[in-house]
Amino acid sequence: MSGGAIWVPDNHLMKEAGLQDSPDEALAYLQAITEGRVSDDRLRAYVSAAPEMVRYLQKNSHVRFQIVRGYSDYYPDLPGAKPPGGRTIEPVPFNARKLGRMRQQIRSLPRQARLFGRMMATAYDAHLMMDSSLRGRLRAATIFVRYFCNPARSLAGMDTRLTLGNALIGRLRLSLADRGIPVWLDTRASQTIVEDGRLVGLEVERGEKRVCIRARKAVILAAGGFARNRAMRQKYQRQPVSDSWTVACPEETGDAIQMGLEIGAAVDFMDEAWWMPTSLVPGEDLPNMIIVERSLPGSIIVNSLGKRFTNEAAPYIDVVKDQCASHSQGCGAIPAYLIMDRRFRSRYPASPMLPGLTPRKYIRNGYLKVADTIEDLARQCCIDSHGLVAEVNRFNQSVANGRDPDFRRGDSLIDRFYGDPSVKPNPCLGPLDKPPYCAIELWPGDLGTKGGLNTDAHARVLRPNGSPIEGLYAVGNCAASVMAHSYAGAGATIGPSMVFGFIAALHASGETKVTYT
Ligand SMILES: Cc1cc2nc3c(=O)[nH]c(=O)nc-3n(C[C@H](O)[C@H](O)[C@H](O)COP(=O)(O)OP(=O)(O)OC[C@H]3O[C@@H](n4cnc5c(N)ncnc54)[C@H](O)[C@@H]3O)c2cc1C
Repeated sequence: MSGGAIWVPDNHLMKEAGLQDSPDEALAYLQAITEGRVSDDRLRAYVSAAPEMVRYLQKNSHVRFQIVRGYSDYYPDLPGAKPPGGRTIEPVPFNARKLGRMRQQIRSLPRQARLFGRMMATAYDAHLMMDSSLRGRLRAATIFVRYFCNPARSLAGMDTRLTLGNALIGRLRLSLADRGIPVWLDTRASQTIVEDGRLVGLEVERGEKRVCIRARKAVILAAGGFARNRAMRQKYQRQPVSDSWTVACPEETGDAIQMGLEIGAAVDFMDEAWWMPTSLVPGEDLPNMIIVERSLPGSIIVNSLGKRFTNEAAPYIDVVKDQCASHSQGCGAIPAYLIMDRRFRSRYPASPMLPGLTPRKYIRNGYLKVADTIEDLARQCCIDSHGLVAEVNRFNQSVANGRDPDFRRGDSLIDRFYGDPSVKPNPCLGPLDKPPYCAIELWPGDLGTKGGLNTDAHARVLRPNGSPIEGLYAVGNCAASVMAHSYAGAGATIGPSMVFGFIAALHASGETKVTYT
């Protein structure tokens, strides 16, 4: 159900596209963002195995990636960063019909990621669609026309051209099927089996049965984080926190972390998550992620005093951290409010609403607050009205020069990726001066948690004294993140899951070198 993008420095696609990168620059960047919280061994392992992993999959499976052009690293000013992008790569779209009946096993993308509830687009398409100029609209129209003119796509219940996470999983699933590797669905690992201090297998629940699986080489835990485990969130994370603000999949219940803890593993970064502002749309199973709305001109995010507290277009992890900081200073930022004007709504999407379309039901059920004046909007949202009027006036005056002196919104290349390039000089800034004005609540949500079992450079699970638990590896969100408190760029969560999965498999099987077939 994800975007399927992965963050892979110095990948071969960059070389083919003429984009320069090197392991040293990638290491310097990771050292800068992780601020000494992750060992150099682990960072080096990531940097050297990531491009290998992509090449390996390309040669030995159906998995193919393409560069998301222009998607800068999240901190383009830090040493070793790549502002022009290239490290974020996304799966090449994939024909669902190749999967046959296995297609039914793939969870749909969230509704938000499917245009008209069906059509799938790539991350790069989404970037292009933010351009509100005639040229941008024509490009968007081409994407729609291609879909509607292809009956195999448009007449199928769901788009058959899989993109994003569906393309990645579809490609991986077919590759497993080709090799005859069995996949047991609806099977829950519940306990580890330890003999003489070594992990030798797992006990799993399969339907009514309990089955013991003995591992020939080792067990690799890859069962996600604990975003959906209320008790763990209460225990480990800053308050307030809720498992209903997350967009993580429902099975992220922390089982793997609990299993590791039970046999003496150490954990780290348990207070952390891949933070993402979310919006709770009545009647929808999952909250909506608020990504592009924050970068587009004519919107601001405020707390209950009516004050901005962040660069709205900054990486989502930072927006939520600033939201929580504002709240803990007593400014009432949970929820915060995304404020937009009519010009914004006519040009750009806002949560479930397409540009120019505001279904009445969202006003009737109170999801979208609408008012002819900023004062009235503030009153409806219980925001201090003097504060909001003053803030909007101040914002409008400063953005007239294309500058945001308070938070530098739009100064950075990463801010601009989802901005509107037709708006000059700053694609992220525009006044809020066209009534009616509207607002939605924003919650400090996440894509999943990132604290988990401590691992070494081979992805082996470690005890508090640093010694490995023989036979046990952990990767992905059940392992303490190699990104520490930070987020290198789009794809920095699935990237490490795949890279350390690759490293763990090589180490467990005693391979020192990758063999290409
Ligand atoms: C909408 C959305 C978009 C995203 N887009 C991106 C993106 O583009 N790039 C990116 O890097 N990240 C993205 N993320 C985040 C990313 O999807 C997750 O961080 C990533 O999938 C975590 O990988 P994982 O392998 O740790 O866990 P998961 O992908 O969650 O996989 C864990 C699996 O383990 C299974 N499981 C859980 N418990 C058990 C158990 N006891 N026994 C057996 N199986 C179990 C679960 O069912 C699940 O299938 C996105 C997330 C969301 C929600």
